[in-house]
Amino acid sequence: MAIQREKMHLWGIPIDRVDGETTMAIFEELMETPECSMIVTPNSEIIMAASKDAELERLLCEADLMIPDGIGLVYASKILKQPLAERVTGIDFADRALARLAEEGKSVYFLGSKPDGGDGVSVARMAADRKAQEHPGLVIAGTRDGYFKPEDEEEIVAQINASGAELLLVALGSPKQEKFIQRHRHQLKAKVAIGVGGSLDVWAGTLKRAPEFFRKHGLEWLYRLIQEPSRYKRMAVLPLFMIKVIVTKGRK
Ligand code: UDP
Repeated sequence: MAIQREKMHLWGIPIDRVDGETTMAIFEELMETPECSMIVTPNSEIIMAASKDAELERLLCEADLMIPDGIGLVYASKILKQPLAERVTGIDFADRALARLAEEGKSVYFLGSKPDGGDGVSVARMAADRKAQEHPGLVIAGTRDGYFKPEDEEEIVAQINASGAELLLVALGSPKQEKFIQRHRHQLKAKVAIGVGGSLDVWAGTLKRAPEFFRKHGLEWLYRLIQEPSRYKRMAVLPLFMIKVIVTKGRK
């Protein structure tokens, strides 16, 4: 029987009100359906981007699971009185999904990130090797870096399909990765495709994850800003997001 879903709606975009456990249960359910399901881990930046990008807005509405990754969404949900159970970070979810796949001897394809993470080995390959070590039984169907031309996409999809991967992780940054999945999901044979942002870099060890203190206090964004100051422009949208939430609340 399909799992009952509760959703929060933010300017028409549905976000699943899930905790870590429910997320895994839904993931398992999606792994059993014949078509390729799309899982998105939205944060406030992507929701704001959707208000100016109709293609993105539509695909977010068509996602099979929208996991609230991003402390801004949790705050917004409380202000709008549709509280989200908790923040489920995309990287933790993807890691749990890989652990589950390993238990079942299933396979995964890593697509995205830089062609050279050091010693001429791609970040995707480094991340895959690391995860295969951590989760014995996990089958790596294939890896490929994320710097390709639009005209290469058909061939990449054919490679992924030929690999027999049951799960596809796509790390091209947001919203590029979500648009890639949406464009090809009807040809993809994987059961589930997930956009994982910088996760491959973290697993490969080329990007450090925020220390416990920052994570516990919902300050991962601040840590990333310190590591990559060039992100400030993208992050400037966060206060605008909170203002929009407060205005929406005022109109209710
Ligand atoms: N990336 C990629 N192809 C591109 C652009 C980015 O493979 O054309 C990779 C980049 O190397 C990084 C990942 O996408 O590993 C995530 O990028 P970003 O940190 O911008 O992610 P976001 O925070 O947007 O999820």
